[in-house]
Amino acid sequence: MQTNNENLKIAIQKSGRLSQASLNLLKNIGLNFEIFERSLFVKCENFPLEIILVRDDDIPEMVQDFVVDLGIVGDNVIIESSSEVVDLMSLDFGKCRFVIAVTNESRIKKLFDLNGKKIATSYIATLRSFFEINKIKAEIIPIKGAVEVAPSLSMADAIADFTSTGSTLRAHDMKEIYEIYKSEAKLISNPKTLKIKEKKNYIDKLKMRIEGVLYAKKNKYIMMNAPEKSVAQIVKILPGVDSPTVVPLNKKGMVAIHSVVPENIFWKVIENLKAVGASGILVSPIEKMIM
Ligand code: ATP
Ligand code: ZN
Repeated sequence: MQTNNENLKIAIQKSGRLSQASLNLLKNIGLNFEIFERSLFVKCENFPLEIILVRDDDIPEMVQDFVVDLGIVGDNVIIESSSEVVDLMSLDFGKCRFVIAVTNESRIKKLFDLNGKKIATSYIATLRSFFEINKIKAEIIPIKGAVEVAPSLSMADAIADFTSTGSTLRAHDMKEIYEIYKSEAKLISNPKTLKIKEKKNYIDKLKMRIEGVLYAKKNKYIMMNAPEKSVAQIVKILPGVDSPTVVPLNKKGMVAIHSVVPENIFWKVIENLKAVGASGILVSPIEKMIM
């Protein structure tokens, strides 16, 4: 399998936690393609892109080795593989944390209590370098899958694993004692691909579309009526992209205001707007926003 100059190739996880979100992202940026159950290669009908479905562990190396031009994969897999890839952007899904956890009754309370202990993990290289940097002398027990059973089987005193909600740890009577790092899905490429002008142009187009989709996901469009005299206060409250649009209304002394508000501060902004006289506040999702 060798990449050529015509079609871009992107590797995504075939089946797992990142698969659906990766496919949704590609659909949301307007790519048309159809995946059949056993598909490994999928051609986009309306963009020079081929989607390759593989195990997530293979993605960083495939991108590094120029077998594909792009990949969608978690930071954790990139770090563990130590492949040299270019991080193009964070994709706001696949969020998880690499943590050290122990059983609830364990005497290990903090990082340095791990000296001389056994720690089970599937991410050996990552944990080894973390221990080296922090000068912890502990034995790493490599385990593939279901790492959380290791302490109850007396295979290890602690584990290092990924968690998002912590529910798997709790279900195994374990608690987190230290967070090593946070991970999320990334769009990656390689220097060789980025030097090919035609490919780089198409990658920039994909990036612009993805940024538009991510921006839309994180923001809401709001419209409201307000007394003209409150406009200055309202403008201060609204964190919008640019200054909000202010439109005069037929009713004297009243205006309509349109703006964009980030999802994470949305309710606070609405409360503040109401407090200065905004009414009839209409909120709608944004489909895309191109800066
Ligand atoms: P594959 O068969 O492709 O090798 P896998 O079993 O290694 O799959 P998944 O469990 O599907 O991998 O997880 C894929 C990625 O999802 C992880 O590498 C990580 O980046 C991310 N992720 C998100 N939440 C979690 C979580 N709670 N635990 C583990 N990984 C998570
Ligand atoms: Zn994997």
